[in-house]
Amino acid sequence: MKNGLSDRIRRVRDRIDSAARKAGRDAAEITLVAVSKKQPVGLIEEAIACGITEFGENRVQELVQKFPSISGTLNWHFIGHLQKNKIRQVVDKVVLIHSVDSVGLAKEIERIAERRLTGEVRILLEVNVSGEASKYGFVPGQITAACAEISELKHVSIQGLMTMAPFTNDEKVLAKCFNRTRELSDKIKMQKISGVEMRHLSMGMSNDFEIAVREGSTMLRLGTILFGPREA
Ligand SMILES: *Cc1c(COP(=O)(O)O)cnc(C)c1O
Repeated sequence: MKNGLSDRIRRVRDRIDSAARKAGRDAAEITLVAVSKKQPVGLIEEAIACGITEFGENRVQELVQKFPSISGTLNWHFIGHLQKNKIRQVVDKVVLIHSVDSVGLAKEIERIAERRLTGEVRILLEVNVSGEASKYGFVPGQITAACAEISELKHVSIQGLMTMAPFTNDEKVLAKCFNRTRELSDKIKMQKISGVEMRHLSMGMSNDFEIAVREGSTMLRLGTILFGPREA
């Protein structure tokens, strides 16, 4: 295609396959979420034509704008920090909210889902493993208690964890961050909290996704490497 999108998608898929193979994993268990923030609708439609079905947006306003204007079979994922007063605009549009970062937010999702009869809202809990103050998310020590508390909510379903690695090229630091997230997920799994599924680990972005695959990621959130640089 004219801008090379299909080539880039194919190359990324090849790299995911090969990273999975090296890690003794099946690439079929890894979902590619194309992060379409700040990308035009036309490019998203082109990606759909190339077989991409999952798209991630990090801003509510942008999701709301794009949502009605794209035809085709696709699922939206919300991956950015979510404010309580914007939940209602998101819950009926996305298959998964990756970025639930407080018990209060989960409770508010519950309240809105119950009122709007949207059915169960699937969420991931965001963990701030690197401890960077600029990042959202539960600190690792809070995550088990948070899971237990949120599991009581009838209209919210925990499907796993999400993390953002620190901004670095140091592979050891990145691997450690992903590895700790997986350990947390395993720990929660062992507790067998009723209603809590740890089926997804959303981790890995354009510059670290192969490391994330090695460390057990099941959802890669890839933007730049697929679509190129974003509009400012
Ligand atoms: C922008 C964004 C991504 C994608 O980042 P790239 O480096 O462009 O792949 C992934 N996750 C979240 C939460 C983002 O905001």
